[in-house]
Amino acid sequence: MDCIFCKIAGGQIPSSIVYEDAELIAIKDINPAAPVHILIIPKAHIDSLDQASEKDIQLLGHIQLVAAQLAREHKTAESGYRIVNNCGEGGGQSVFHVHYHLLGGREMQWPPG
Ligand code: 5GP
Ligand code: ZN
Repeated sequence: MDCIFCKIAGGQIPSSIVYEDAELIAIKDINPAAPVHILIIPKAHIDSLDQASEKDIQLLGHIQLVAAQLAREHKTAESGYRIVNNCGEGGGQSVFHVHYHLLGGREMQWPPG
């Protein structure tokens, strides 16, 4: 499949990796929207959160705990941070391999645009 995040997870496209385990990879976003902007990407391809199912419950929970760990490591846990999943074109998704954004290091606005 011609998927940029599959290629990044498979090491075919270089990226700035900040965390990796058997299930997922975390990389710095190429076009950061905040001082801390990390993408948490499952190694297995799922198009979007809308395509996730019961079998992904452990993975989805694992992503949140890794995000919290990365927030601590990147010194943004105390000041606060945001975890975002953009789902579908109307939700702002541009890469159709499910991933979560960890954003921190600045004041977050609410509601998001
Ligand atoms: P989405 O818009 O799908 O929620 O998020 C996709 C994110 O992937 C964007 O923030 C974009 O900057 C990032 N991105 C797209 N291509 C690459 C790439 O080749 N390398 C990295 N590190 N990030 C990428
Ligand atoms: Zn993929």
